[in-house]
Formats: sequence, structure tokens, C-alpha cells
Amino acid sequence: MQIEVTLFTVNKRFPLTISRGTTAQTTNVWVKISQDGIEGWGEASPFGVGNHRQSTDTIRDALQQVIPLLHGFSPRHWQQIEQMLAQKDVPSSVRAALDMAMHDWQGKLVGLPLWQIWGLDRQSIAPTSVTIGINSPAGAAARARDWLQFMDVGLFKVKLGSPAGIDSDRQMLLAVKAEAPGKELFVDANGGWSLEDAIEMCAWLADIGVKYVEQPLPRGQETGLEKLKQHSPLPIFVDESCFNSSDIPHLANYVDGINIKLMKSGGLSEAMRMVHTARAHNLQVMFGCYSDSSLANTAAAHLAPLADYLDLDSHLNLIDDPFIGASVQEGRVLPTDLPGLGVQYSASAA
Ligand SMILES: [Mg+2]
Repeated sequence: MQIEVTLFTVNKRFPLTISRGTTAQTTNVWVKISQDGIEGWGEASPFGVGNHRQSTDTIRDALQQVIPLLHGFSPRHWQQIEQMLAQKDVPSSVRAALDMAMHDWQGKLVGLPLWQIWGLDRQSIAPTSVTIGINSPAGAAARARDWLQFMDVGLFKVKLGSPAGIDSDRQMLLAVKAEAPGKELFVDANGGWSLEDAIEMCAWLADIGVKYVEQPLPRGQETGLEKLKQHSPLPIFVDESCFNSSDIPHLANYVDGINIKLMKSGGLSEAMRMVHTARAHNLQVMFGCYSDSSLANTAAAHLAPLADYLDLDSHLNLIDDPFIGASVQEGRVLPTDLPGLGVQYSASAA
């Protein structure tokens, strides 16, 4: 198969601040595979968790090394390709782009959208949450207001773990709650709390009606989750602590759910395995995103009927998303009836 790589830069309407820093713009990578006159598309977007970084340069360099190895393969040989990429320790975001492209190609070959190939019920897709980054209380309230004007919001995901401390976290959350009364809230600390902060905050968040908390402790401090689980009245999800299915068994006794992202898992194939592994351990499942455009978020939307919670909002905060894919209806990100991923290039984008 032939592979073409295109870099594209996307800008956020509102820069997003989390416990680790602020992002206003990313350069993502569009991967196109072609075989037998059919193209399959995938996306790799940069992300970092602690010391683990997959930058745009990392992605581009890895693709340059991998492309010559793939020329002898067809997308029909996906099992062999996936094993080869794993053996060569190819970054997960690159594997995600190739896996997405292979699925897109297969869907176009048979003329069906992926959700139909998998026999999934599109109507069971949950509303997506929308994200409010770390901000002043007034800034967070303004962001909530903007989201409410922009779309039918089912659930707000509020980023806490502010470097300014948990008093600042409390004030910000109360400001969002006051701005959006009656809306469901959940909190993502992005590993920004100590164990003591997390125990205190989980009790407080439960008191004010927050639904659950994500990644309270930093990646690498998973041993603290056992104690936190004993004290927390809130369900605990992990994100940064859980990249793929092999991470799930040793976390399963101390958490209530996992956040699956295609860039961490290495694509739809492993995301599917993560869902089944999580279910086998009685865990709940969320699908999330990094600075992904509509291309990667549409890929996740095809699997979305398998998730309890969805956080697929990054493309909704882009001013120059070059793709058109899943549509937003009543707060839900829904894949279309077009074959494969059903993503098209938008000529009107910047
Ligand atoms: Mg998260």
C-alpha cells in the first residue's frame, strides 16, 4: 500500500489549560493509505503525560521509519502489521493513525460505516461532555456560558488540579456550578493533586453533587489509589494511568472506570480490546481525546455505543478543523451513514 503523510495545524477557539500547562494550537498528522483505488484516512495528534511525550516531530519521524516497512503489505494484512508495529515499539499515536486508516479503508471497501460493520446501535451513544479548562472563577463561568450558547450541553468536564491549589479549584468549580445550575458536572484533575488533596477534594466534590472524578493522582502514583478508593465517595476514573488493555488488571481493584483515547491505545483495535478488558473487570468506560480534529474524534464516535461516558469535544473547540465527520445532534457526537469513518476534507477550512 501507498502512504501519504500531511501535517496540519489546528487552533483552539479557547486555549485549554490543565494542571500540566496550556494548549492553544497543535500540529497534527493526517495519514492516508491507498490500496486498490481506495483511500483510508487516520490522524495522529501530539500529547504528553509526565515524561512520556509524543510530539509532532516524534510522530513524523516514526512514520518516516515505518512507511518503507509497510509498502509490501495491504490493509488486509492488519494482524501482521499490528504485530510488526508493536514489536518495533512504534509510538501509540502513529499506530492509532494507521489503525484508523486501515478501518476506514475496510469500511470503504465493503461500503458500510464502521458502526454498522460492528453491529453497534448508534442511538445508544451518550451525550459528550464539554471541557472547561483551569481558569479564574469568572473565566470558567464565561467559558460555561459560551458552551451553553454553542450547543446542547449534557455534561461539563471541569479541569481542576490547579497549580494555585485546591482552594482555587473549589472557587472555580462553584463558579461553573452557579453558571450552569442543574447541569451534570464531573472533574478531571489530570494528576494535579497529592493523595491528601485528593481525599479532601473527593469528599467535597461528592457533597456538592459532582458525578465522578478523573485521574486524581499523577501517573506513577497508582499505589495511592488504593487508599483514595477507601475514602472517596465518588467513582474514580483513570486516564493518564491507563494507556492500553495491559494496564487495566492491576488498576481494576482501585478504580471504577477508565478513559480510553485512541492516541494512547494505538487505535480502534486496541480500544475495542480495552472495552472488553474493562467490562471483564466490572469497570465503566469513557472515550476521550487530546487535541484531535474531527477525523480522530469521528473514529472514536463509531465505537461510542460501547462507552458509558463520552468526552469527544476537542474538535468542537477548533476554529480551523479541516475535516467534516460526525455530526452533533442534541449534544451527541454521531457518526454518519457514509462508508468507513465517513470523514471528508473541508475545502472551506483554513
Ligand atoms: Mg483526562
